Amino acid sequence: MTTLSPLFLSAAVLLAAPAWLPAAHAAAPQVRTQAPGFYRVLLGDVEITALSDGTVTIPLDKLLTNTSAAHVKDVLAFHHLGTQVETSINAFLVNTGKQLVLIDTGAGASFGAHGGHLADSIRAAGYRPEDVDAVLLTHIHGDHSNGLAIDGKAVLPNAEVVVARRDADAWLDPANRAKVRPESVHVIDEALAAFAPYRKAGRVRTFDGPGEVVPGIRAVPVPGHTPGHTMYELTAGGQTLRFVGDAVHAKDVQMAEPQVTIRFDEDAAAARRQRETLFADAAARGYIVAAAHTPFPGLGHVERSGSGYAWAPLNYSSLR
Ligand SMILES: [Zn+2]
Repeated sequence: MTTLSPLFLSAAVLLAAPAWLPAAHAAAPQVRTQAPGFYRVLLGDVEITALSDGTVTIPLDKLLTNTSAAHVKDVLAFHHLGTQVETSINAFLVNTGKQLVLIDTGAGASFGAHGGHLADSIRAAGYRPEDVDAVLLTHIHGDHSNGLAIDGKAVLPNAEVVVARRDADAWLDPANRAKVRPESVHVIDEALAAFAPYRKAGRVRTFDGPGEVVPGIRAVPVPGHTPGHTMYELTAGGQTLRFVGDAVHAKDVQMAEPQVTIRFDEDAAAARRQRETLFADAAARGYIVAAAHTPFPGLGHVERSGSGYAWAPLNYSSLR
């Protein structure tokens, strides 16, 4: 009688396993988390890291203006979206080789768990919030500046905060509560809280007009969305990138129809003109646009398309 090898035996047992035995691989629990909230690109020898602060779902049919809710619904459906659109909140970290500069700070605690992930994203990207030397704000609005402080404590404890004087004048003066649109009063209250630890430490700097605000980064004033709304431009390695803040909130609607505005615009007519000028300029010059609310990482080009424009996300790079 021949003896069966142990290997043959185990194979035979497996083949003969009755159906009621548990499967070899039990169903794994779903993980349901996203990749860490950063994405890196290089511009010459300057490193730019897009940081996700989170996403917030907003009713674009109710928020967009100079259009109709029905039209917005149709356009969003064409882009496979409902009217409630999950909208990215992006910030950007620039390592110039000499300084670590953060463009915008996300929403802090103001959107609950939907926002306030800036510090986690900075750490995931290999930096620490305390490493940031300067914060350049595109403007003072909760989802751009509330991330400066959480519970009264500076999130970026060693940073100088740099902001256009016109926005500081508008939003950091309690007397303006009586002058701004009723829906904007909360911007003043939130800004006073977010700036408090930096003002106390004497680390807020304002600027006027265009020009270099930190070495290698130029401010481009674009008043409209807020009085001091500012874009920041940087050129390295023969390429230019422009951080455009809130020039566009809803790319699926506003790229094709830049005349469409949003309730968050303080001066909608001026915001529209700035967007039209930006799109024409970006399409003509071909620079990279870094936007706060286009889907993360918010980096792409603006292309002419029909009578309007289209968004072309940057090609993915593993940087290897
Ligand atoms: Zn804004």
